[in-house]
Amino acid sequence: MKELAIKAKNVHKTYGNLTAVNNLSFDVPRGICFGFLGPNGAGKTTMMKMLFGKAERDSVQGGEVSVFGYDPKESALEIKFFTGIVSQEDNLDQELSVIQNLMIYSKFYALPAKQARIFIQNVLAFMELSDKKDAPIRQLSGGMKRRLLIARALINNPKLLILDEPTTGLDPQVRHMIWDKLRDLKKQGVTILLTTHYMEEAFQICDDLIIMNKGEKVMQGPPAYLIDKHIETYVLELLHTGDKTCDAKDAVRTEFMNNRMLLYADDFEIIKQISDQFKAGDFILRQSNLEDVFLKITGRKLHE
Ligand code: ADP
Repeated sequence: MKELAIKAKNVHKTYGNLTAVNNLSFDVPRGICFGFLGPNGAGKTTMMKMLFGKAERDSVQGGEVSVFGYDPKESALEIKFFTGIVSQEDNLDQELSVIQNLMIYSKFYALPAKQARIFIQNVLAFMELSDKKDAPIRQLSGGMKRRLLIARALINNPKLLILDEPTTGLDPQVRHMIWDKLRDLKKQGVTILLTTHYMEEAFQICDDLIIMNKGEKVMQGPPAYLIDKHIETYVLELLHTGDKTCDAKDAVRTEFMNNRMLLYADDFEIIKQISDQFKAGDFILRQSNLEDVFLKITGRKLHE
């Protein structure tokens, strides 16, 4: 088995009466992209924060965490030295330029100025921001700022990169560019952990995935495997059905969601025949995805 980057065992975190993370266990082998997928409030960010000491697991029965051999409860600083962290907040200094932001950040790692300049050039080139190096932060678009936050997280040449919702709110073009960069980093051997509520993001870049709901692990596995194992291959979405139902055959499993009826089956012909009862524009016929898996298991949507 591959060496582990992270080992988490029975991790538990409460805020007062609220259980944010409930008895979560997982292993992350080195060099993979590992994801947490779930709706808002599922506990993804809290779990992430416990990996680098920004949140503390419960002191009694809070479980065990090891990040490259370090327990974040005792060794948060050691972990930060080999980890890049991209949080949801844009905590760039708005008054400074791109390069000034990176220079200040590099001081945390005690990089000599000359070496820092080289590293900064490299990370800006990697995130395709070299031509913005002297721009003030306030002149950057949302996508550029996110790319800069990733560039900043790479300054210390981390072996672990942690990203909290890396592409939330970005347009599809930037999203795809960031996914490409994360794939490149993985090829270079970086272990990547990310949270997301975009099933497409989880599907595209995660090698292994935990689906979370209300603090708990709902299931775990490679995205394609989860779809293959837990859900029928095809789905027919009937739009605007209201309470109306259609004459679904026994072989078809049905769900209702937001004024839509969803019919699931492995047999494409059955689904196709049902769709023939409807006119174009009243239905969508597609392959099922992680959102369908989530709906089946939890009765909820990822975006509520
Ligand atoms: P996610 O990242 O999946 O959206 P979070 O980990 O941010 O979920 O939150 C999980 C739950 O913990 C939510 O109910 C949230 O309101 C609660 N929570 C998160 N941080 C705090 C905090 N600092 N104090 C109290 N409750 C919190």
